[in-house]
Amino acid sequence: MQTIVPASGIVMKVLGPQKKQNTAYRFMTFCVRRRVPEGELVFHTLTRQMILLEDGQPRPEDALIAAWFLVPEGCDDKKLAAQVRSVLQVMKQKPEHIRKYTIYTTSDCNARCFYCFERGWKRTYMTQQTARRTAAFIAEHCGGKPVILAWFGGEPMMNPAAIDTICSALRDAGVEYSSIMTSNLSLFTPELAQRAAELWNLKGAQVTLDGTREVYNRAKAYVDKTMDGYMRVLENIRLLLRAGIGVSIRLNMDRYNADDLFALVEELAVQFPGEKELVIYPALLFEDVENNPKTRSFAEREALYERLFALRDRISALGYAKKIRLRRNPVLNMCKADCGEAVTVTPEGGLGLCEHCLDQNLIGRLGEPGFDKTAEAVCSERMPEIPACAQCPLYPQCIRLKICDISRNCWPGSRELTIRMLRENMATEYDAWLHPAAHDAPDESETVLEEIT
Ligand code: SF4
Ligand code: SF4
Repeated sequence: MQTIVPASGIVMKVLGPQKKQNTAYRFMTFCVRRRVPEGELVFHTLTRQMILLEDGQPRPEDALIAAWFLVPEGCDDKKLAAQVRSVLQVMKQKPEHIRKYTIYTTSDCNARCFYCFERGWKRTYMTQQTARRTAAFIAEHCGGKPVILAWFGGEPMMNPAAIDTICSALRDAGVEYSSIMTSNLSLFTPELAQRAAELWNLKGAQVTLDGTREVYNRAKAYVDKTMDGYMRVLENIRLLLRAGIGVSIRLNMDRYNADDLFALVEELAVQFPGEKELVIYPALLFEDVENNPKTRSFAEREALYERLFALRDRISALGYAKKIRLRRNPVLNMCKADCGEAVTVTPEGGLGLCEHCLDQNLIGRLGEPGFDKTAEAVCSERMPEIPACAQCPLYPQCIRLKICDISRNCWPGSRELTIRMLRENMATEYDAWLHPAAHDAPDESETVLEEIT
C-alpha cells in the first residue's frame, strides 16, 4: 500500500487511529475507487487520504483498519462521519477578515438569454460614489491581507468605470488584489483587455457559450442586432488569452443543444489549439433540470446527465478539462455564502452573502455599521438529509444550502457527476505523485480559476 495523499491532520486528530477488533471488516462507505495501471486508487472522503493498493500485493489489513478504510461490518458510517463533522465544525474558527468580494457593477446586461436567472431584476448601475465606498469597505475589512474580487452582474463590462474606480482606490490604499470575472465577453476591446491585465489584475474570466454560431446568437439575443456575438466573443477570448488572462468556457447544456455542443468543442479545439490557459466544462442548465416539467421525470433528467458525461469525456480527451487536485482539508462549508470570509456588493451598495441573491437575504449596507446576524444565519441553513445519504460516499463532504437554487436538490445524476469529478481529481493527484515536476504544488486554498467554475 502506498500513501499518495496523507490523511487530513485535523480529521485524524478527532478520529485517532482505529483499533483492530476481532470481527469481520468491510470498506467504509466513504471510499471512492479508481483503477490505474499499477492497481487501485482508494480515496477516503472523510479522512481525505488517498492510497494505492498495488496489484499482486496482499491486502494490508492492519494499515487499512488503522486508517479507517476498513471498518467493522456493523459500523454506522454516517453517524460516525456526522460526529466527526460536528466536532470539526465546533473547532473551526470564524475567519477574522473578509477576503473575497463579489461585486455587481450593474444588474443590466446587453444580452437577453432566455434562461437568465436575473430576469425581472431592476436595471441599476453602481455609481462612482458607491464604487469608492466599496473600495473603502474592502480596505477596512480585509485585515491588510490580499483579496480576490469577482466582477459579476448583469454584465460587469457594461460598467468598467466602476471597476477602474475600485481598483485604483485599492491600489492607492496599498491593498493587494487580484480579480476574476463572469462575463459574456462581448464588450471587451484591446484597450480594455490591457486595462484588465494591468489595473484590474484580472486572472481569469468565465464565459458561457450555448452552442455554435447560429445557436449561440439565437440564445444570447444581443440588444445590438448588428453584432455577430459569437464571432466577437471568440475574438475576445483570444484577446484575453494573449493578455495573459485565463478563460474558462462554460457550455450550458439543455435537451435542445446537446448535439450542437459536441460540434462546438470540436470547433473550439480548432480555434484554440493547445491553449493551456483555456478550460472548457459543460454544465446542465439549471432551468432545464429543475423547472422544466418535461425534464422532471427521472429518465429525462438522467438522460441529460449521460450526455453531459459524454461531453466531459470528449473535452478531457481534447485536453481542455481543468486538472484539479484533491482538496486536502475537510469540507465544512459549501460556498461563498457560508464560508464567513466573503461578501457580495450589489450595484446600490447592499451587502449579501449568496452571489445569486441580488436583493434577497442582504446582511447590511455600505456605510452602515455591522451585519444582520439573522440574515447571515439564513444563508447558512442547510437542507435536511435524504434517505440516499446513508449509502452515499459523498456524505462527509456534502453540504446543501436552503437558499441555493443550484444545489438544493440531489439527484442520482448529480451524485454521479460529483463522483466522476472526484475520480478525475484522483487521477490528477496520482499523476502529480508520479511526476511532481509536471504539477504545481497543491494549493490549500481555492485558486483563482477554481473560484469561477
Ligand atoms: S447560488 Fe448557491 S453556490 Fe452560489 S453562492 Fe449562492 S448558495 Fe452558494
Ligand atoms: S450527495 Fe445527495 S445522497 Fe449524497 S450525501 Fe449529499 S444529499 Fe445525501
